[in-house]
Amino acid sequence: MRREEIFARARVTKGFMPEDEGLALYGAGCARGAGTWLEIGAWCGKSALYLGAAAQETGAVLYSLDHHHGSEENQAGWEHFDPELVDPVDGRLNTLPSWQRTIADAQLEETVIGLVGPSSIVAAHFAQPLDLLFIDGGHGQAVAWDDYRNWVPKVVVGGTLAIHDVFENPAEGGRPPYDIYCAALASGDFVDVATCGSLRVLGRR
Ligand code: SAH
Ligand code: MG
Repeated sequence: MRREEIFARARVTKGFMPEDEGLALYGAGCARGAGTWLEIGAWCGKSALYLGAAAQETGAVLYSLDHHHGSEENQAGWEHFDPELVDPVDGRLNTLPSWQRTIADAQLEETVIGLVGPSSIVAAHFAQPLDLLFIDGGHGQAVAWDDYRNWVPKVVVGGTLAIHDVFENPAEGGRPPYDIYCAALASGDFVDVATCGSLRVLGRR
């Protein structure tokens, strides 16, 4: 499928990736080139379409990781709750069917591979170095720092680290994504490559 068609699908896919930031993510993927990529935070597949379009063009594979039960702010009574995504069998949020539909409709099933489970458990059993890592999972303090500690060391020298929902101004959003972005820079291992909205793209030196 042509990338324009994939982007058109992304526009109507549920999720939390504005189009300009999605296109910046696509650009970061194309700039990185073939290899093993992973995103933390799949939801219904919106960001996976942008990264998946780049992966398809470059010959990369994108692992799209999520336990598919949503973050805190997605639960009933919270800001980003969507009753259409509740599984009637157990009353829990389940975004996996929507994610599968998104990836299948975009004909990306051989490029975007789902990993279903808690991020920290998958990380402990995932030995493959990453050419690109996109962090957009849980934004709570504990989960964001676990993602930073467990996954960032897997990024190869010359690889790309992208982080979503980075807000310098605390009034615009939560701290943990901004804090791990600062930690990546302060480590001396990463430099800023691109910025779009709340998306930060860094490169490993
Ligand atoms: N990238 C998506 C948005 C992701 S929302 C888009 O483009 O729309 C954040 C996701 O992180 C949610 O789907 C939630 O289920 C997932 N998540 C939160 N904590 C997690 C954890 N510990 N392990 C795996 N997934 C997690
Ligand atoms: Mg996000």
